[in-house]
Amino acid sequence: MESLGVLLTFPMNPYLEEELSKRCKLFRLWESPTPEARRDFVRANAGSIRAVVGNATVGADSDTIDLLPGLEIVASFSVGLDKVDLAKCREKGIRVTNTPDVLTEDVADLAIGLAISTMRRICESDRYVRAGKWKSHGDYKLTTKFSGKTVGILGLGRIGSAIAKRAEAFGCPISYYSRSQKPDTGYKYYSNVLDLAANCQVLVVACPLTEETRHIINREVIDALGPKGVLINIGRGPHVDEPELVKALVEGRLGGAGLDVYEHEPHVPEELFALENVVLLPHVGSGTWETRKAMADLVLGNLEAHVLNKPLLTPVV
Ligand code: NAP
Repeated sequence: MESLGVLLTFPMNPYLEEELSKRCKLFRLWESPTPEARRDFVRANAGSIRAVVGNATVGADSDTIDLLPGLEIVASFSVGLDKVDLAKCREKGIRVTNTPDVLTEDVADLAIGLAISTMRRICESDRYVRAGKWKSHGDYKLTTKFSGKTVGILGLGRIGSAIAKRAEAFGCPISYYSRSQKPDTGYKYYSNVLDLAANCQVLVVACPLTEETRHIINREVIDALGPKGVLINIGRGPHVDEPELVKALVEGRLGGAGLDVYEHEPHVPEELFALENVVLLPHVGSGTWETRKAMADLVLGNLEAHVLNKPLLTPVV
């Protein structure tokens, strides 16, 4: 792959960066400090760049693709492709790959962890102990049980199914809404997210971010979930109308929220910091050593397959 010029958009993984720098001609986009400097950098190296490696933070948008006439492949270090202009890639015959399956378990584990942490107030009671309040104020107050609660899954795909399987082990009845019905699962299907929200106690967002799913969790859905309901978002921040979520939590119209993703990362609404029924994570769904290494190997494998004219490992386009 020595002749392959690769634009790495973000410092996403040291192992991936090192391997790319050993095996290819690597261009590090983030080292240019401003949007103008990044555009100049891409323009200046456009003749050499044939591949873009992006992630859930910085992908390959329309402007970047337009600056790269020699672009052949976008290999994303993520399963979600909302930061890649897929339509433009299709139009220009640029190949696209992602990292499905290898991260499914971690994201599903985290979704269950978020649900239990939110309902059992694990983070809040940890803070209670650290602040010395157990000694000064006595026992921590009672919380809400997770086992047996109805779990509604928005997007019963790879991650959604892995969450369902885990929740089943906690004795939770499963319901879901996806574009298509999955009769083999035996789970209850709702044909829209509003009915799903009205009929579950924990709603987990696990679908891809598209124009159809942007703000799919709006005020109406939040109110259907209600003051005893809990929202878990391990999908993407813009799935949720964030100001409406914050209002509902502050006003007590929603029971709680466990969030790994936000509308304007890394910005997290400060109103949430004071709420004890909220658990806030910094977009770490796939963030384990094991999974990030597997994702990096998949990116490298896809680039290698492309260069060797072999079938891509995980093609999207
Ligand atoms: P997947 O296997 O493609 O599953 C996506 C599911 O969403 C499918 O069941 C699909 O329905 C459903 N869906 C798609 N569009 C929909 C719509 N308009 N309305 C309702 N449902 C819709 O994807 P995955 O591997 O499970 O990943 C799902 C998402 O998780 C990714 O796109 C990414 O955004 C997010 N993610 C987040 C993290 C994190 O760090 N927090 C990590 C990895 C992934 P059909 O089955 O009917 O097609």
